[in-house]
Amino acid sequence: MPHDVAPKQPPVRPVGAGRFAPSPSGDLHLGNLRTALLAWLFARSTGRAFLMRIEDLDRVRAGAAERQLADLAAIGLDWDGPVARQSERQALHHAAIDRLTAAGATYECYCTRREIQQAATAPHGPMGAYPGTCRDLTDAERAARRAEGRPAALRLRSQTTEFEIVDELHGRYRGVVDDFVLRRGDGIPAYNLAVVVDDADQGIDQVVRGDDLLPSTPRQAYLATLLGLPAPRYAHVPLVLNRENKRLAKRDGAVTLADRLAMGEAPRQVFAMLAGSLGYTATDPAELLAEFRPEDLPREPWIFDAVDVVQFTGNP
Ligand code: GLU
Repeated sequence: MPHDVAPKQPPVRPVGAGRFAPSPSGDLHLGNLRTALLAWLFARSTGRAFLMRIEDLDRVRAGAAERQLADLAAIGLDWDGPVARQSERQALHHAAIDRLTAAGATYECYCTRREIQQAATAPHGPMGAYPGTCRDLTDAERAARRAEGRPAALRLRSQTTEFEIVDELHGRYRGVVDDFVLRRGDGIPAYNLAVVVDDADQGIDQVVRGDDLLPSTPRQAYLATLLGLPAPRYAHVPLVLNRENKRLAKRDGAVTLADRLAMGEAPRQVFAMLAGSLGYTATDPAELLAEFRPEDLPREPWIFDAVDVVQFTGNP
């Protein structure tokens, strides 16, 4: 027995929590699995709990959530407590919307998607921002729109056009805050509202996700301040791209765990491939956790070429 073994530390109680929050619209591909792995690594390496939340307010494919969870478990990720379902948390979302409405911070919007696309953005407004068409409707105009039977979305009456956040990988990031949708025309809470309410309510203080969501983050962080909620720490990680530098998609082939297993790979090999894309040789989560250094993460997208990987793993 080695004599220099340090005395066993008492178990560390998790401080805060990280999470992975997939939308159950289909199978996770390697890019999603890699983001989940990173979220797990960031949480576990900082003594945080790791929570799983299915974001099922939008398009849901039957059985997808279950397959996503099974795939995450198969590559060796674990999470704490029961899996949360966003659709079961809507009372909380609506309570937050009601608080904003009571404070005069919302308005009804009757615009169709098409009208928003066609409306020129306000002369000095930021690109891609809602042009504010319904922001200052008179009572009569509002009544007329309602009478037309147009379903109303509820938007934030934002007091700012920009907000700055700090990201672990991107540093200070300033981005657009417009009058974004809080409640969709069908009455369902919108993603930007639900994510803020759920993260805070679940004690999540670390958000690790794909950097396609970085532009939405100033909106979310600003909304958190309006609701008096603490904004989490953010780390937006690079996406996986295909050979044409486009976001990886199912049609790129051999991109889901099921695809890889069907080719004869073991989950451990798929894990090793994900770890390899992050610059590590580990073949399981515990080994990778011991080596993980967020500051060394690649800042560039992982270019995934199914053909190369097939050769690399030595499978036909
Ligand atoms: N549900 C979102 C997605 O799958 C992620 C939301 C988030 O991580 O904040 O794209």
